[in-house]
Amino acid sequence: MSETGTPLRVLFVEDSEDDMLLLLEELRRGGCEVEYRRVDTEAHLCEALEDEAWDILVADYSMPGFSGLRALEVLKSRAIDLPFIIVSGNIGEDTAVKAMKAGANDYLIKGNLARLVPAVERELREAAGRREHRLADVALKNSEELFRQLAGNIPEVFWIADAALKQLKYVSPAFGAVWGRSPDRVYADLATWVEAVHPGDHARVLAGRRKAPYGDYDEEFRILWPDGTLRWVHERAFPVRESSGAVHRIAGITVDITERKRVGERLTYLAHYDHLSGLPNRVLFQDRLAQSLAQSQRESWTTAVMFIDLDRFKVINDTLGHSAGDKLVLAVARRLSHLVRSGDTVSRLGGDEFALILQNLAKGQDAAIVAQKVLESLAEPFDVEGHEIFVTASIGITLYPSDSADAEALLKNADSAMYRAKQAGRNNFQYYTTEMNARSGENLHLENSLRRALERREFTLHYQPKADLRSGRIIGVEALMRWQHPEFGMVSPGKFIPLLEETGLIVPTGEWVVRAACAQLRAWDDAGIMVVPISVNLSGRQFQHRDLVRSIIDIISESGVDPGLIELELTESSLMWNPDDANRILLSLKEFGVRISVDDFGTGYSSLAYLKRFPIDTLKIDRSFVQDIISDHDDAAIVRAIIGLAHSLKLTVIAEGVETEEQLTFLLTNGCDQVQGYLLSVPLPAFACGQLLGAGRRLCQVGGHSPSLRLVAS
Ligand code: C2E
Ligand code: MG
Ligand code: MG
Repeated sequence: MSETGTPLRVLFVEDSEDDMLLLLEELRRGGCEVEYRRVDTEAHLCEALEDEAWDILVADYSMPGFSGLRALEVLKSRAIDLPFIIVSGNIGEDTAVKAMKAGANDYLIKGNLARLVPAVERELREAAGRREHRLADVALKNSEELFRQLAGNIPEVFWIADAALKQLKYVSPAFGAVWGRSPDRVYADLATWVEAVHPGDHARVLAGRRKAPYGDYDEEFRILWPDGTLRWVHERAFPVRESSGAVHRIAGITVDITERKRVGERLTYLAHYDHLSGLPNRVLFQDRLAQSLAQSQRESWTTAVMFIDLDRFKVINDTLGHSAGDKLVLAVARRLSHLVRSGDTVSRLGGDEFALILQNLAKGQDAAIVAQKVLESLAEPFDVEGHEIFVTASIGITLYPSDSADAEALLKNADSAMYRAKQAGRNNFQYYTTEMNARSGENLHLENSLRRALERREFTLHYQPKADLRSGRIIGVEALMRWQHPEFGMVSPGKFIPLLEETGLIVPTGEWVVRAACAQLRAWDDAGIMVVPISVNLSGRQFQHRDLVRSIIDIISESGVDPGLIELELTESSLMWNPDDANRILLSLKEFGVRISVDDFGTGYSSLAYLKRFPIDTLKIDRSFVQDIISDHDDAAIVRAIIGLAHSLKLTVIAEGVETEEQLTFLLTNGCDQVQGYLLSVPLPAFACGQLLGAGRRLCQVGGHSPSLRLVAS
């Protein structure tokens, strides 16, 4: 009892000094070292309780003016847990029960104090137990409170579940704020947790959670709130092991990382887009270009990189200030964005430099069309802060794959081409290669003036005579278009017909040709010249035009010319492109009365079956065969074969491009029906041709020793 060396502190509530001494002696005999005080009134009891701390209280049951039960009440009222032993002279059972009920721990009879020491010892032990319990209780309450403060105030969600993640043991209140659902729901059904995961991340998260017992679960994923709000979370879980080492629970933490993601996205955006214009910046441009080139390689596309630099931008910045400069850049960015197709990229490389990627061009020259559009769109004045600003740009163009296959090299090429555009006086574009420059420059210029040529009556027709080899007579003329360009002079059809076709201008122009040919027939007729049929060329694009038949019929009918005086020359390839349609069109035209000739015969791939079926009158042997007829055996054989074929199909055959007498003799001896070529006459202006026709010249042999065939007056 006093093993610790501290004396036992006993408070006696006893009116009799002797009785107390007996108790004391009994205790000492039992080996206790005792310090004590004796009180016999309530006031003294209170004083003693306040003055010192006691180990045990031994009280007489009844005293004059005080009692053990009253002493008990005092202790209770002060909430003092002090072992309390009642001692009485003679204690009846009733008294004992009463005392115990009132809270006494034990009772003894004065005549039998043998139980005193064991009773004291037991009570002291129990009191110590109670004290410990109380302390543990307080400690538990403290730690619970700390945990509550921790879990309740930390925005991360802490949770603990059974090892199979089937049942939730605890989840911190932050769950509500992160998951947008009440924690009660997830306690009731853990499926709520999984249901909230974005469908796109579902499989990954579930697979990840299966690894939780091994401590490998660490996932970032999206969750959807019931109202559709999307949040990003980062969830990690750790196995909780029993002493045996087996995992019996999983503890986890879920953190809302929505804000971090947003900042991340914003950073990615800032890293890839120009803050001022919102266009892709240089980094993203390089990226897109690499992708573009990879795709272009797969698809065998031609792709252009265009470098655009505004001219004299510095002047605007210096005179109107940087804020005006920024506004101008933004406005230019908008205009550029509207010009390109959806798959193309417009990027701001910095300052007043922009770059374009034009994917999948039909041909390299098409980039010039876009460059021209850029220059035209910038030509419209800009309204910046009330100022009307005129902007021009210098543009460099390079092509994949012809200039380079390397993204970096392409951008460099475009840049250096842009510098050449600056040197060339700004407000223009330059290709990286001089060859492309020559082609595109001329083409663009031609295209622009072609659009105006019809209105300005810059087209005329020249006429090249055709002669019959048996009679020597001129039996027809071919109308060949000429373009009298105000700057370039006479432009050959080889240059402008393809452009007319590309731009679709061939349709109205072709109509003009038929109209002009009819008018010429009328004019010769009026002048008393014996008219011969005029051949008019039709290109493939015209032939595919829906209204071809109607427009030709209308024009010829309106002119009052006999349709038999008009022959249409169609190339072999345009007929064979869609032979069924061609046959239908030819039949309608033939029915109307015009003649049909197949031009440039031998250069395409004719199906004999169709050739037989088409309602054609004449085959025209292509110039390329006639050219080498004397020197090349193959060509000679081909020409002979075409003549034979034509005759067996009951068609007239004519050779074009006859330049020498040897060629003429060859054709004559091989049974060719008609000829056309410089030997006879070059294409002539209408007036000169009219004179030739009027003179009634014929192809005759002239001269004695070395006779030659010439058009001579008959
Ligand atoms: P094409 O119909 O085969 O016309 C014959 C071309 O050969 C003409 O060239 C003519 O000037 C040229 N030529 C004639 N004889 C000789 C010769 O002895 N030697 C050489 N080296 N050339 C000769 P041109 O006038 O330059 O016309 C070229 C092509 O343009 C024509 O070939 C025709 O396909 C097309 N074309 C001309 N006018 C028209 C037109 O009004 N409409 C359409 N759709 N095409 C036309
Ligand atoms: Mg022709
Ligand atoms: Mg021809």
